[in-house]
Amino acid sequence: MTKFIFVTGGVVSSIGKGIATASLGRVLRNRGFTVAPLKLDPYINVDAGTMNPYQHGEVFVTEDGAETDLDLGHYERFMDVSCTRGSSVTTGKVYQKVIEAERKGDYLGGTVQVIPHVTNEIKRSIIQLGAEQEADVVIAEIGGTVGDIESLPFLEAIRQMRKDVGYENTMYFHVTLVPQVGPWGEIKTKPTQHSVINLREIGITPDVLICRSESPLPEDVKEKISLFCDVPIRGVIESLNVETIYEVPLKYEASGLGDLVVERLGLEERPPQLEEWTKLVHTLKEPTYTCRIGAVGKYTSNGDAYKSINEALIHAGIPNDARIEVEWLESDIFESGEDPIGLLDGVDGLVVAPGFGGRGIEGKIEAVRHARESGLPFLGICLGMQMAVIEFARNVCGLVGANSEEMNPDAPYPVIHLLPEQKGVTSKGATMRLGSYPCNIVHGTLASDLYGTSRITERHRHRYEVNNDFREKLIEHGLVISGVSPDYRLVEMVEIAEHPFFVGTQAHPEFKSRPNRPHPLFQGLVEAAVTRKLKASVR
Ligand code: GLN
Repeated sequence: MTKFIFVTGGVVSSIGKGIATASLGRVLRNRGFTVAPLKLDPYINVDAGTMNPYQHGEVFVTEDGAETDLDLGHYERFMDVSCTRGSSVTTGKVYQKVIEAERKGDYLGGTVQVIPHVTNEIKRSIIQLGAEQEADVVIAEIGGTVGDIESLPFLEAIRQMRKDVGYENTMYFHVTLVPQVGPWGEIKTKPTQHSVINLREIGITPDVLICRSESPLPEDVKEKISLFCDVPIRGVIESLNVETIYEVPLKYEASGLGDLVVERLGLEERPPQLEEWTKLVHTLKEPTYTCRIGAVGKYTSNGDAYKSINEALIHAGIPNDARIEVEWLESDIFESGEDPIGLLDGVDGLVVAPGFGGRGIEGKIEAVRHARESGLPFLGICLGMQMAVIEFARNVCGLVGANSEEMNPDAPYPVIHLLPEQKGVTSKGATMRLGSYPCNIVHGTLASDLYGTSRITERHRHRYEVNNDFREKLIEHGLVISGVSPDYRLVEMVEIAEHPFFVGTQAHPEFKSRPNRPHPLFQGLVEAAVTRKLKASVR
């Protein structure tokens, strides 16, 4: 029998519900349970693929090619699971299903309504995910903040779930803020009380309150929260800011949350295996080395726009015993005419990020040129790889004006062009080359050393590819094609042999990195960066 935990958020948005959900998942994974995380998002977009990273942060891509909310990235990284299309449900997706069924005549004669038709569809997706993944526990996070109009159908659906599957199989978690105000930093419980009142009006009484707070909650404050919110004292969990987000699951475990959930849901009692996680948190907090990675992107003002790259770099620091400081650089600055050497001074490695559209492109190309010429360790991801190919075509092969058709449809040398299957596609939602694809790694290359295998799979999200008309020319001038699709049609990876570390990948390796299993490409980049830094300090 699958158990269900629902996570809501109160008081303010951006309170860390995603990390709380992911951490709860890790607590259960440490006890050997299979966990299926689920994000229920109240927005009307069918998926996150059409949203601007400035507004909404990164679009996370699952193995099966769903374009989802970035919280799925937290789930995968903390729980070390692979999410699927079913792990992300939006209002748009729910309505699409209900309206399709209505048109087919499934409800013939009936009036289609939010309750029960929309709520039934929400419940169906929750239960289906648990069944599909044979999960011991489904952990479903409801996006938005309690009190929002648009999340009401989701809250009603999870309220009904307790009636459907039973008290002993459901738990409600509420993540809330306990602020400190006034000249003496008094701890205030009122916002939490009001948020819980809001939930109880809907018919949900939380079992656990995750209280985000700047300083420790004294016992009397916990008692007050427990009394006013009708939550047992054991369920009032203090959640302070921590040095690294990966420490949160250990804090939860230490506060008794693991035991509480196991008891309350009647799960098998097993001792938590904390060794691996404790070790990696220790390295994250007290590494021997530090190194600085510059990352060039065009949505850098939103800290969440490149979440998975940021985390993949941090993970890659762990086996290298290094703290990674990621310095995000807006690509525009490389177009200001300033010397790229100055801009990249002090970074030990460079990532050029994925992206769409022409803005900031020339800046990215400038940054790649500097990395190629100066021996700065470089990893180009998707658009970053395409920029590396353009830079190489222009400055090494002498193909003046080489470009991607995406940026200049009339480029004299379209070294990057539209994938054949994309020709004629005009609709924007879920139409890219998406999800996991196999790639053959060429023997004797850096990629083959790093991956240690000749056949890999990586996740994709793109419309353009390296133009095969220019493959020979690029190879002749020294670009190594180190990864190809199994039919040899698509260039998946490139590198430069004489360079300390210069790798471009058409895929998004960042989506598969985990703190306990850092991705080989990021690990290689960081290793090269640390080596470069150490050499420079010896000199
Ligand atoms: N815009 C490029 C393409 O569609 C790269 C996409 C990306 O970086 N994800 O191919």
